Amino acid sequence: MSAVDQAPVAAREDAALDRFRTLLRIPTMSRNDVELTDWAAFDAFIAALPGLYPAVHAALEREQHGHSLLYRWAGSAPTGRPTILMGHYDVVPATDEGWQHPPFAAEITGTGDGRVLWNRGTLDDKGAVVAILEAAERLLGEGFTPTEDVYLSFGHDEETVGTGAQTIVAALRERGIRPALVLDEGGAIVERIFPGVARPIAVVGVSEKGITSVRLTVEQHGGHASTPPKMTATVRLARAITRLNAKPFPARLTETNLQMVETLGAHASGPLRAVFTRARRLQPLLRAGFGRLSDETRAIVRTTTAVTQLRGSLAANALPETAEAIVNVRIAVGSTVAETMEHIRRAVRDPQVRIEAVDASEPSPVSPSEGAEWDRVAGALAQVHPHAIVTPYIMLGASDSRHFTAIGDTVYRFTPFEMSTEERGTLHARDERIHVRTWLRGIDVYALLLRSS
Ligand SMILES: [Zn+2]
Repeated sequence: MSAVDQAPVAAREDAALDRFRTLLRIPTMSRNDVELTDWAAFDAFIAALPGLYPAVHAALEREQHGHSLLYRWAGSAPTGRPTILMGHYDVVPATDEGWQHPPFAAEITGTGDGRVLWNRGTLDDKGAVVAILEAAERLLGEGFTPTEDVYLSFGHDEETVGTGAQTIVAALRERGIRPALVLDEGGAIVERIFPGVARPIAVVGVSEKGITSVRLTVEQHGGHASTPPKMTATVRLARAITRLNAKPFPARLTETNLQMVETLGAHASGPLRAVFTRARRLQPLLRAGFGRLSDETRAIVRTTTAVTQLRGSLAANALPETAEAIVNVRIAVGSTVAETMEHIRRAVRDPQVRIEAVDASEPSPVSPSEGAEWDRVAGALAQVHPHAIVTPYIMLGASDSRHFTAIGDTVYRFTPFEMSTEERGTLHARDERIHVRTWLRGIDVYALLLRSS
């Protein structure tokens, strides 16, 4: 490309970057205590969009569900196989403390292709929301109309309760809409996550673990701490927790795990390649390896439990009438809430400990890792990131997209951004940032997906 041809591209990219920075600076922070939410920031974000994306707001219908947004781009010849691109524009809270660059200043460091943009939400998940809008605006400018309907769904409370996504799913379900493809945040293009594989790896989430809080409660007559019974409520609760901790859930490799090992194993160098490509026959060996390697690989093969909250007496010198623990449980794909509760009951083996599931959500159904929709995503990636190996995986965290499995069979969790291990460490932490080039390539991937809609 000549310098003359590059000039308009650079100008177009800079304009996109300016719009992104404008939206990043609006501090749409989700708060666990909803009362503390600054709704003015959410209103400001919504109000800024039509001015920044005039073509999108002229051509697409927009409806608001609370502060969540649903856009509909009418297809030219729809056959009832719409595409839904989704994301969320709320971010987890951040203060200036500890950041190298303030979390809502959208500062850029470096030059040219080495530019890095620092802000809360660059990776999670405004980066995706704004890239989707950029892609749609660009295609509209080129006179493009999709064949099938396209929906853009942007949640406002993914980081807390996810009511926005649930309301949108309910509305789509009522209209009888069955999407052919739903794409939400999730995996990314990562490096060095798999032994012996040097190439970048695009991990596309085809399912996600279930999630529930389990409340363990022990009740007892109160009384003075000077004359305690042999087994106080707190001691009984502590015993229940240590028993649960001593009885981990069984390790399992799901079909998706095996596919991932086989896919990546084929690209591994050295003797490991022989092991990984025989994944199915060597399952016990792999299970043991995953169970030992790291906290992350352990979480891949089993249901995990983490005691996150403990509560006892309000006074230092009074026996508690109730002692309570909250266990955050992430349920492996292939298991169920019921099976999980049964395991916990057997581990605790104490009828005086009440065990209840709070807000239980089953593991998501597994979306296909082949077929037309998989090929669309893999094909778009192959054009923009020709060196990346594309593999299915099971997402360990939870996303809004799990609600969409109620209306569609193909729900992928994937953000088309390259993320180094260090960058992934900034998710929900300090110094969240994205390479400008990475974000621009993300727009290209979304544009290709829209083109094939
Ligand atoms: Zn997110």
